[in-house]
Amino acid sequence: MKLISEVSIGCFNMKHKIKWRNFRIWFADQVKRKVWFRNFFITRNAWGAFSINSHINQHTGKEKVCYNTVESAKKAADSMSKKRNAHFSYYKCLFCDGYHIGKNRDNKISGYDDVKSENVISERI
Ligand SMILES: [Zn+2]
Repeated sequence: MKLISEVSIGCFNMKHKIKWRNFRIWFADQVKRKVWFRNFFITRNAWGAFSINSHINQHTGKEKVCYNTVESAKKAADSMSKKRNAHFSYYKCLFCDGYHIGKNRDNKISGYDDVKSENVISERI
């Protein structure tokens, strides 16, 4: 399975390939979440992982901070949530071997589960 996402950043044309190995990790992580059905079929946020914007900060054009382990990404998401008073959570990146954190606008809905897909297409950090 090969999915290729191309994106132009400034003058550069970068190619990022989704790694099958990462896809499996990402998928296993997504379906563990309580709101996976919602993430895939209602809000469709889960699909944002296929966008290069899940790996690159749209505003700076730079790669997002990469966490090597789920644990460190979770911790970072927790502290960011407190700091920004908004829900952040982690997600497995399909484009690199790490994890990133992000928030999305749906997180503001009260009662929305704490473990959810964070696809950062709508991220505004
Ligand atoms: Zn990444």
